[in-house]
Amino acid sequence: MRDHSIPQKVIEAGHPSFEALGLSASVLESIRRVGFRQPTAVQAAVIPPAMAGSDVIGLAETGSGKTAAFVLPILESMRGEHGLRCLVLCPTREIALQTHEFFAASGSSLGLRSVCLIGGVKIQPQIRQLRKGADAVVATPGRLIDHMERGSLDLETIEELVLDEADHMLDLGFLPQISAILSRLPSERRTMMFSATMPQVVNRLAGRLLRQPILVDLRPEGGTAEGIHHRLYLVDEDNKKACLLALARATQGSMLVFLRRKIDAEWACRQLELEGHPVERIHSDRSQGQRVAALEGFRAGEHRILVATDIAARGLEIPRIEHIVNFDPPATVEDYIHRAGRTARGAAQGTVSTIATWLDRPMIHQIEKALSEKIPRCAAPGVEPYVEPRNTMSGRKRIRRRLL
Ligand code: AMP
Repeated sequence: MRDHSIPQKVIEAGHPSFEALGLSASVLESIRRVGFRQPTAVQAAVIPPAMAGSDVIGLAETGSGKTAAFVLPILESMRGEHGLRCLVLCPTREIALQTHEFFAASGSSLGLRSVCLIGGVKIQPQIRQLRKGADAVVATPGRLIDHMERGSLDLETIEELVLDEADHMLDLGFLPQISAILSRLPSERRTMMFSATMPQVVNRLAGRLLRQPILVDLRPEGGTAEGIHHRLYLVDEDNKKACLLALARATQGSMLVFLRRKIDAEWACRQLELEGHPVERIHSDRSQGQRVAALEGFRAGEHRILVATDIAARGLEIPRIEHIVNFDPPATVEDYIHRAGRTARGAAQGTVSTIATWLDRPMIHQIEKALSEKIPRCAAPGVEPYVEPRNTMSGRKRIRRRLL
């Protein structure tokens, strides 16, 4: 029998703990057996929304640990029941094999079976494995279609779909096969999609496939497209600070943090300082001299982060900033536009991240109306996002299963 305790290649990972992500004792035990001690950034960001049953778009490089980011929450939703419920589509045989290996290594102690369906090998042994019963299928599109045409596989029971390396799959010309496969899947399902880049074609596919997805963008420097990227981090009130600190850790360059009240600006500055960030603040209780010094230090790169209130920031000439963080949404849409205008000057690009609670949703809707776009809902590493309720049968079923 195959030894599933063979450790995977272990890479550097540095986010708080798997326990903090809400995984069950049996899945935690599987992770321990695989040899992972701490989650990677993509795991810390993807697992909480995936555990809550959300659709997820993960923008992350190969090698970032994304396999475990989707497999672990899927194991959570599948444990305790049997039958084919999960389909993972991969661009190449090698990726499919690796994903299957991880599934087998982490799922075997939960009694979950994965079958790998790839081309280049005989089809009969795969058919025999399917007959024995599989909980998950990891496949490349071509061979999966062979099985569908032979009738050796029925996809009507799939509840969890993963498209791994979607950009790579589309580059390889798999769009027709993917469309054929999708037409045979139930529409009531959860979908996670991973990609290293987000070209138009991937964006369109995501728009077709995913429902109210949470976006996890861990691309270095936030991607390649020009202009301003708006991001929304919906969290519980208690998680706002953790979200701010996670965004500060993830930003390499300059960052401007807006808060409505000066007392909160003082507090946020202190929290960032305690984490070891070089930070200063400007608000109307600071003297003109202190404000000028804070601004000059920011321009000169002495402190990477500047915390500000709207009033203090108005009229000030602030240099181009990589990342604007709204610790709370501004009081008016005009303030949002003004804050956002501090980044992405000229041909440059920048990100505007807004941290909000569900109480802020009316203002968020007004901002989205003014921008004529829905701001992507995002998750920060290690911070559980607030997931807008989705009243579907499968969502309820998933939650019930998790509670069991
Ligand atoms: P992936 O991006 O999923 O292909 O993972 C890349 C490599 O990182 C694989 O060899 C995994 O075994 C390893 N890896 C993934 N997650 C972790 C983790 N939390 N701790 C240590 N190694 C990991």
